[in-house]
This record gives sequence, structure tokens and C-alpha cells, in this order.
Amino acid sequence: MPISRPLRPSDAPRPADSAQPSRRRLLAWTTLGAASLASAALAGCSGSAHAHGAAPEPSPSDAFSPAAPVDPKAIAALPSPSAASPLAVRGKPVYKVHDLLPDAPTDAIALTIDDGPDPHYTPQVLALLRKYDIRATFNVVGSQAHNYKDLIRQLAADGHTVANHTMTHPQPFSHRTGAQIEQQIANAQSAIVDAGAPAPTLFRSPGGDWSPAVFAAAAKYGMIPIDWDVDPRDWSRPGVPKITEKLMAARPGDILLCHDGGGDRSQTLDALKTVLPALKAKGLTFVTL
Ligand SMILES: [Zn+2]
Repeated sequence: MPISRPLRPSDAPRPADSAQPSRRRLLAWTTLGAASLASAALAGCSGSAHAHGAAPEPSPSDAFSPAAPVDPKAIAALPSPSAASPLAVRGKPVYKVHDLLPDAPTDAIALTIDDGPDPHYTPQVLALLRKYDIRATFNVVGSQAHNYKDLIRQLAADGHTVANHTMTHPQPFSHRTGAQIEQQIANAQSAIVDAGAPAPTLFRSPGGDWSPAVFAAAAKYGMIPIDWDVDPRDWSRPGVPKITEKLMAARPGDILLCHDGGGDRSQTLDALKTVLPALKAKGLTFVTL
């Protein structure tokens, strides 16, 4: 369900994107567009378009801005991901663990962590997950993966799932042209693989903003669209007690949404310090998607 707020100037399609792009044109968009998009003030993963919730405006203070710009030459040099193993196009994303993993334990829940890797917060989240022997699913932004390859390798080495969350996290994502949507997904896939993680098989749209074009692009690159059903809105920094309360209400089969990038995530981190052991103590089993 696309969010309904009007396009900002930075969201307006470029003239060059309105026509069916050639491969050369896509590459030109990649080299010229990725860096400018990466440096633009892009809203963080807000959950604003999620089918289960209201549609709040992303706060400016939650604007997603990669810590360092992406070198356009480096992006252009990334290998093109293979689209040789496309999946059937889905009409909706995965909201529940057992929709994706029917054989998972009945008490399984999945923690998903979006918008990183972040050099400040991701190592702390990783240490916490290690402490409680929990594996999570990290939906990473390609530009961040490109800038922090060591963190991507660490995620994979620790047994976490690394999933595709677009190259520069543009919102509203479903308002992009088909070519832009595909390029965002393809570039992120290349950046993640280039950083040293296995090619993602899961895709999460920024803000949970889905459309037929987004589903088609994810399927083309061999990825299943994944959403969530427990959203503590940690990106809006509602306070540690509120984040904690919402996460503690998780039931078997739920997919939990948290963020380790795109802004100040200290509240998220503090909440997870109590939530992770408490959910384990309730008998829930953390699984990766
Ligand atoms: Zn996000």
C-alpha cells in the first residue's frame, strides 16, 4: 500500500527515467544517480507504508543519510547480479515466520534489523546477539554495505541472514519508476555480494512500501519480499519503555522490526538488552528468515 503523501522534489522522476531505459542508460543512472541519492536526505525505514499501521510522516531527524558518499565509479564497477534464477512474482510480502518457513518451530519468532550496517550501532547489536546466542535477519542498505564491508562480512560470519534493503533507501519506494526500482535492488545486491556476504534471497522494501513493480523486481533477482508484523516504531525514538513493551508482546510466528542504522538507535539498543533475554525466557525461539 503506497503512502499517500505528495512527492518531494527529490522524489520527482527524472526525464531520463520516464522512457524505457537502455542498459547504457541504466548504467548512467547508476553512476550519476546513486551518489546524489545517497547524499540526499532520505527518510529512514519508517514502517510508514505498512499495511497494518497508520502512515506517519518520517521525522527529518530520522532521515537516512549514509555516513560517507558512495563512489560512483566503484558502484559502476560492481558486477551485475545474475537474474538467471527468477522466482514467481508474489502479490504480497511475508508477514509471518511460518509463511516463509513452514517447518520452523511453532514457537519461532524472527528479529529483523534494518537500515545498517552502521559503524556505531551494528557492532553493539552484534555483541548483544552473540551474548544471547541469537541469530537475526539484517536488511542492509547497499550504500552502507559498500562503505562498511567488514561489518557485512561480520554479519555473515556470525550466522545472521543478510538481506537486500535497496541501494540508497529512497522513499516512497513504490513511486519510483520500474527502472529505478530495479536498479536500486540490483545495485544493492551487487554491493552486498561485493562486500562478502552470500547473495541475498530476501528483500525488504523501504518503509514496507510494496507495489507490483517492486514484487516483480524482487522476483527477477531471486528474492522473496519480507515484511513484519510487530513494529515498535523504534526509528521514531518513542522511548525505551515503549519499544520494550511492543517487542515483549511478540507471539510465536511474529516478525519483529528494529533498526540499527539511519539515525540514533540508542533506544533500540537499550530495549534489546532486556527484550532479547526476556523473549528467550518466555520460550520463544529466534530464527533467521
Ligand atoms: Zn529501512
